[in-house]
Amino acid sequence: MTVGHALESDVLRRQDPEVAEVVAGEGERQAGSLQLNAAENFMSPAVLAVLGSPLANKYAEGYPGNRHHGGCEIVDVAERLAVERATALFGAEHANVQPHSGSSAVLAAYAALLRPGDTVLALGLPYGGHLTHGSPANFSGRWFDFVGYGVDAESGLIDHDQVRTLARAHRPKAIVCGSIAYPRHIDHAFFREVADEVGAYLIADAAHPIGLVAGGVAPSPVPYADIVCATTHKVLRGPRGGMILCGAELAERVDRAVFPFSQGGAQMNSVAAKAVAFGEAATPAFAAYAHRVVANARVLAAALAAEGLTVTTGGTDTHLITADPAPLGVDGRTARGRLAAAGLVLDCCALPHGDDRGLRLGTAALTTQGMGAPEMTFVAGLLASVLRGGTGPGRAREDVRELAAAFPPYPR
Ligand SMILES: *Cc1c(COP(=O)(O)O)cnc(C)c1O
Repeated sequence: MTVGHALESDVLRRQDPEVAEVVAGEGERQAGSLQLNAAENFMSPAVLAVLGSPLANKYAEGYPGNRHHGGCEIVDVAERLAVERATALFGAEHANVQPHSGSSAVLAAYAALLRPGDTVLALGLPYGGHLTHGSPANFSGRWFDFVGYGVDAESGLIDHDQVRTLARAHRPKAIVCGSIAYPRHIDHAFFREVADEVGAYLIADAAHPIGLVAGGVAPSPVPYADIVCATTHKVLRGPRGGMILCGAELAERVDRAVFPFSQGGAQMNSVAAKAVAFGEAATPAFAAYAHRVVANARVLAAALAAEGLTVTTGGTDTHLITADPAPLGVDGRTARGRLAAAGLVLDCCALPHGDDRGLRLGTAALTTQGMGAPEMTFVAGLLASVLRGGTGPGRAREDVRELAAAFPPYPR
């Protein structure tokens, strides 16, 4: 079954042309513009096929061999495969592949280790912390007492001295490392050392870099963190969802924190799709992909800097770049809008210096499409030209359409 077949299924078109139109339109939008959102990617046709399979019909509360529903023998095989592949891929003693999302994984990690009211030290939201790292609008900020560390205003790097000082002063029950916008590798050994000094658990929220870890191009948090939380849909290129890795001694607590504490039945189509994605991620082809993702990000970061944008931390170790477009005379929000009109789709983010918004970009999706260094240089030039007003929106949109058409995300 090709993706084209799945998306333009006659069944849907005949029964519900309105929704069929939405599905086709979104497919065209994704293929006809450039997805620079650092959290997005194109899952493989095999992963997409499993998501739309009859496994989506199955109820399976509990864990393989111990379900609250009948008829789980076959989906149990899928979950066992997913767990075996995840533990092998990441060298972890235990994996829970049921979290519905990255946020659900973080919720379960907290539930496994903390009680309401406990103090947690995490990267502050103004510096790239995720909602689940203490936002007052999120359960994390409501139920726990979060203390935020930051990044150095000049270098943009995590302020290790501040982490140590805050840990000593607040004696948190857990320390969280991980970010939605940090372009550099995180020093897990440093965080482990601080956690040990103050008797805290270490939770690594590796939602973004876990795919790079799978591809051998980013350091693994697994040997250092008590619990690793991740998503499966970012660089890892699997279905939307979450995952937790931990050692044998926390396995039971983590499993109970997912089901029955914070979730009901696992989504078995998603669990099986995660197994397929882990299978893909274990191949040499995926390692080569992960290396190209980072190589592309480095080229893109350097080209954006050469065009005059201020690239945070001066570059990147990962798939992710944050940059201040202010030197081109435009703020982050205005820039995002202008770029979207040109078909360059990306996000705003916090910047280490001051209150202005910056731009966050990633290379995972473009690299899946097969783009390389020449395309990264072209994209940086076009982006800067749009922001300076050198290239008009119509012209830029045409350039983007042409580039995207040369690198279709799915076979037609
Ligand atoms: C993306 C992300 C999440 C949450 O993932 P969702 O699937 O959107 O809930 C959590 N933490 C970090 C650091 C992330 O980047």
